Amino acid sequence: QQYVFDFAEGNTRDKELLGGKGANLAEMTRLGLPVPPGFTIATTACRHYLTTGREPDGLAQQVGAHLADLQERTGKRLGDPEDPLLVSVRSGAKFSMPGMMDTVLNVGLNDMSVVGLAARSGDERFAWDSYRRLVQMFGKTVLGIDDGRFDESLEACKKSRRVDSDVDLDAADLRGLVDEFKHIVYTETGRDFPQDPRQQLDLAIRAVFDSWNTERARLYRRQERIPDDLGTAVNVCTMVFGNLGPDSGTGVAFTRDPATGAQGVYGDYLPNAQGEDVVAGIRNTLSLAELERIDKASYDQLLDIMATLERHYLDLCDIEFTIERGKLWMLQTRVGKRTAAAAFRIAAQLASEGLIDDDEMLSRVRGEQLAQLMFPQFDPAAPREVVAGGMAASPGAAVGKAAFDSATAVAWARDGEDVILVRRETNPDDLGGMVAARGVLTSRGGKTSHAAVVARGMGRTCVTGVEALRVDPGRKEFTTPDGTRVKEGDVISIDGGTGEVFLGEVPVVPSAVVDALHEVTDDGVTEDGVRTTEDGDDVVSAVLRVMRQADRRRRLDVRANADTPDDAARARSLGACGIGLCRTEHMFLGPRRRIVERLILARDDDTRQAALDELRPLQRADFTDILAAMDGLPVTIRLLDPPLHEFLPDLTDLSVRVAVAEATGEPDAAAAELLSEVQRLHEQNPMLGMRGVRLGLVIPELFTLQVRAIAEAAAELRQQGREPRPEIMVPLVAAVQELEAVRDLAGETIAQVSKETGVELTIPVGTMIELPRSAMTAHQIAEAAEFFSFGTNDLTQTTWGFSRDDVEATFFPTYLESGVFGVSPFESIDTEGVGRLVSIAAWEGKETRPDLKVGICGEHGGDPASIHFFESILLDYVSCSPFRVPVARLEAARASV
Ligand code: ADP
Ligand code: MG
Ligand code: MG
Repeated sequence: QQYVFDFAEGNTRDKELLGGKGANLAEMTRLGLPVPPGFTIATTACRHYLTTGREPDGLAQQVGAHLADLQERTGKRLGDPEDPLLVSVRSGAKFSMPGMMDTVLNVGLNDMSVVGLAARSGDERFAWDSYRRLVQMFGKTVLGIDDGRFDESLEACKKSRRVDSDVDLDAADLRGLVDEFKHIVYTETGRDFPQDPRQQLDLAIRAVFDSWNTERARLYRRQERIPDDLGTAVNVCTMVFGNLGPDSGTGVAFTRDPATGAQGVYGDYLPNAQGEDVVAGIRNTLSLAELERIDKASYDQLLDIMATLERHYLDLCDIEFTIERGKLWMLQTRVGKRTAAAAFRIAAQLASEGLIDDDEMLSRVRGEQLAQLMFPQFDPAAPREVVAGGMAASPGAAVGKAAFDSATAVAWARDGEDVILVRRETNPDDLGGMVAARGVLTSRGGKTSHAAVVARGMGRTCVTGVEALRVDPGRKEFTTPDGTRVKEGDVISIDGGTGEVFLGEVPVVPSAVVDALHEVTDDGVTEDGVRTTEDGDDVVSAVLRVMRQADRRRRLDVRANADTPDDAARARSLGACGIGLCRTEHMFLGPRRRIVERLILARDDDTRQAALDELRPLQRADFTDILAAMDGLPVTIRLLDPPLHEFLPDLTDLSVRVAVAEATGEPDAAAAELLSEVQRLHEQNPMLGMRGVRLGLVIPELFTLQVRAIAEAAAELRQQGREPRPEIMVPLVAAVQELEAVRDLAGETIAQVSKETGVELTIPVGTMIELPRSAMTAHQIAEAAEFFSFGTNDLTQTTWGFSRDDVEATFFPTYLESGVFGVSPFESIDTEGVGRLVSIAAWEGKETRPDLKVGICGEHGGDPASIHFFESILLDYVSCSPFRVPVARLEAARASV
């Protein structure tokens, strides 16, 4: 079996086998771009190693053969004391995991070859700098030594030489450092730094395999939902040197701005440096414009290559490059990560440029990105105190308490606090804190620093490189230019769109994207100067353009879950084509609860009737308003669902009251009687008790009241010339007999109202499918139901036997950790279990009644992965919260192209 492939053998489609980095190095090699020669050890070898604990047979020989070939082609030998070949050993999985796994540079240097390197390059300082980097990276990555040990030694050396930067150390200093570093290796591991270059290579390869399973890599994969069993490839690449003096350097660049999506190249360059230095934010970088000044020829070639890459990949690319004494080398490219705003802008730009078509444009953006753009932003009119500015690294408006280390950020977030993680610079160990925080603030590093790249990937607000702030992680505080001290726990606000930092809380306002989405669905009329055009090169235009294509392409209808006229109006304006779930319980709470209480506890017909007469006009008004807000569109109204006890006085409170009254010698007879009634109706497990249709059958007056109010509201609106379209939904049905009873009652009531008002009414009656039994008897239930709506929240609870309120805090973390499920089944539909029930029931229901309307109204209706599943089983609509409607429209389209 072939485990090792030359760069010239692969291409960009081989990501599964060669990892993203390897596949794209191969692709660039094929395109004839200047890539240093090398080879890739496939993910298959890593998977073998991870499952068996040993490298596969034949791997060592194959590496040997490719190494021999590399030596032949470069005319150098690994470890040669005269003219050594050096290589980098680089991780690279199928999905990019920036900074999550390990890379070792300068493999092949030892006490002998360092002398050869110095002689050949004519630069002794460079040779020893490269060697000390190798010992450091190898020590950290391969031998597991705490990087701090090396850093301390480096800092001490700089201090004793009275220099600020490592470029100011000379050859002798670096040579001394190599000795110190080797000594650290010896004291930490009990062994000498390995001098045999092939042994260095093999150990480094194994370390890259192992890095797949470091804690931070696992955490990142869980966050990004990357499978744990893919493994990584290992790229062995001939070293080129950016640390050979001022005419050398290394950089990172993007073919468009990954933060805003603006056209034009964007990048950071660091002269006289090697790879990691740029990303680590060790020294402050130069812009590409400055590179043009320093080395015009390399700059021009770089721009040429970037244009080639964009035309080739038809997307934003990011690249790593190194200039060695005026010669440009490409070290990496990939389709670049970007912010939500940039994703929309770039997709629309590429479509406008004719590089991609409109369906491809849809595939370039995600519902979650749209959701991010719909987040509020800082109120431009609000007073605020800018204390400093840095790089706008990842957009958003974040407010929270300053935390100066990852553990504190995690702990506070767990307590429900909003946190801003403040660091000098972040490294992969900060990942937990970045996940937990609302935003990330660093005093060093550019738009391509670790903090920026990771925050953009996660959609966290991030401001980097705020050099004016002095961050002191030891004392857990930072100092602003005017000397103000901000301590751990003080509230700050950061604007990831402008890079500004504010003290205290700045109020936030709705996003421009939300305004525009509202405007357009109001018939595209421009109001108050809010633009509704799709032609500009800005985020709002891009979103509108994408949404128009989405509405053209989607098959699924999108409705909203809305219980009030305001929500209904908002949902409609965001593009909902009806209400999929209008809950009615809130209409019986508050001041009206006492009326319901009287109704339930009534001992005689008169009392009961009086309560009903009081409720009816109130209910009718509720429905009139909602139906009017959704005029012409369907409104599915769910009859009363919650357990009985929610309308009764609290058992404990009441018991206490009665007991106290008795103790004080003034027994309250009415309260005592109420208590015995409440005790009688008390349930151990109300969620599975008398609720939904069960309540409706025990107290039929309740459902009849609701049906009558709906029918009267519809009749009234019709008389006003409107077009109300109510649908009556019966909750918690398990057996068709339950539904038949309610349907018959409803039919009679509707007919009566028709007669009384002279308005002919057709109001469909359907049911919620939220119990396994109703799903499994869907063919029967469809005989009595005119529509199905899957209540996937309850269906998930009842299928798994989970009580949502209890399990999410108790054993779910363990289940997620151990992989029983990758994501909570309440968040994303469990396609294999709950989803299968939905699919069977939808299918059998339509068999019984071909024109049966089938939708879903659980929270899954707004979840992208779930929407893709509902599209695949051909439901008619999804219903979600009003604010998620645009997201659902977009994902429904993405699911169908
Ligand atoms: P990551 O995935 O963390 O970016 P890389 O494997 O890309 O890790 O390497 C880390 C750094 O070292 C990058 O800046 C890269 O450009 C640089 N680098 C890797 N291989 C070489 C090489 N052969 N010559 C010079 N620099 C290299
Ligand atoms: Mg890289
Ligand atoms: Mg329910």
